[in-house]
Amino acid sequence: MQHDVIVVGAGPGGATAAYELARRGLRVALFEQKALPRYKPCGGCLSLKIDRILDLDFRPVVERTVSGATFTFEGLDEVHVRSERPVAYMVMRDRFDHFLTQQAQQAGAKVHEGVRVLDVTESAEGVHVTTDRGVHEAQYLVGADGANGIVARAVGLAPRRRVAVCVEAEVATAAEASTTPRDEVRIEFGAIPFGYGWVFPKGDHLSIGVGGLRNKIGNPRPLYDEFLVDQDITKLPYPDQSFDVALCTWTLETLADPRQAVQDLLRVIADDGFVIYAFSSRPEGGVKRLYSRLLEDWAAGTLRGRFLSAAERPYHSCEHSRLMTFAGGLATVVVLRKCCRVDHPQDPCLPAAPVSATPGD
Ligand SMILES: Cc1cc2nc3c(=O)[nH]c(=O)nc-3n(C[C@H](O)[C@H](O)[C@H](O)COP(=O)(O)OP(=O)(O)OC[C@H]3O[C@@H](n4cnc5c(N)ncnc54)[C@H](O)[C@@H]3O)c2cc1C
Repeated sequence: MQHDVIVVGAGPGGATAAYELARRGLRVALFEQKALPRYKPCGGCLSLKIDRILDLDFRPVVERTVSGATFTFEGLDEVHVRSERPVAYMVMRDRFDHFLTQQAQQAGAKVHEGVRVLDVTESAEGVHVTTDRGVHEAQYLVGADGANGIVARAVGLAPRRRVAVCVEAEVATAAEASTTPRDEVRIEFGAIPFGYGWVFPKGDHLSIGVGGLRNKIGNPRPLYDEFLVDQDITKLPYPDQSFDVALCTWTLETLADPRQAVQDLLRVIADDGFVIYAFSSRPEGGVKRLYSRLLEDWAAGTLRGRFLSAAERPYHSCEHSRLMTFAGGLATVVVLRKCCRVDHPQDPCLPAAPVSATPGD
């Protein structure tokens, strides 16, 4: 036999296996189809458990050490946790996997980069591995060729799978442009249907991705584009006067200061545009007001907002704007024009009202 062990795949699994076996004196051959270092779509977030698994000093390839995390559900219900100790390491997989493979090589493993394994067969003597550069034999085989590898299939071990699809990109951002501190991760459950999104800090950029069940979401790319948009409604990522109509439904009541959001909606509409928003409102008085209180109490914890009282409603009364209430005052719809302001209650209209039409036109 040429080798004691053949390892297929130089990801973290294969490279570490090759390292551990080689340093114990076994004759190891490691086959990797790509030339290293190679890019691998991966968040690269290593939980601190890795300290118990790897006795290598991999700190030279750690991009960031993470001490906190923010979790959200559908962009809301933000939970922020912070630890006094680090909780994870951030790596780029091209550098990390290459580093581990180099360690395996230094421990004595023979590394064959750019060599693709095509088939694997077993016999009484051992395993026969056919590559695109010839056949190799060993007593044992480690199949570490990843989710789409051939080894498990070749030996009849491929599991039935539910497939998730992901899109990830390495996104350069100025440190001050990121809302997440550079020593924290952000994980947004429900950022896409049947999946989640992540923002992981790396040395000079962010790894940003989304993933979800393939049979539910199909192509994740359009969902990724949406995820990339800065979703802070008080700082819309659009230039002034981008739209004829800005429509906002059942969102303002989730904000600490709804007026800020309405100001930004007014900013992005054209001079003759409309801002229309609907929100849950608290009736002025009577039984309906009591009812809204009871509803709020009943839904506390699940209702992601409140019924806006009259004082909180981003609205002013002028000839250009309209306010309509429904459901006995529990729902309100407002229409504003470009000249309307909601940040100066004493001075609700811009000096020169540029609109030519009224909402009734
Ligand atoms: C988008 C995304 C984000 C993720 N984020 C995280 C994260 O933040 N933290 C985390 O812990 N996990 C994460 N994961 C999971 C993680 O990437 C995998 O668990 C990990 O890569 C598995 O390592 P591995 O060594 O088993 O296989 P892989 O890393 O897949 O490596 C397999 C290697 O085998 C090679 N290979 C395949 N076929 C052959 C062949 N026929 N011949 C020779 N070589 C072959 C491949 O080129 C590859 O280098 C993420 C996964 C994805 C897809």
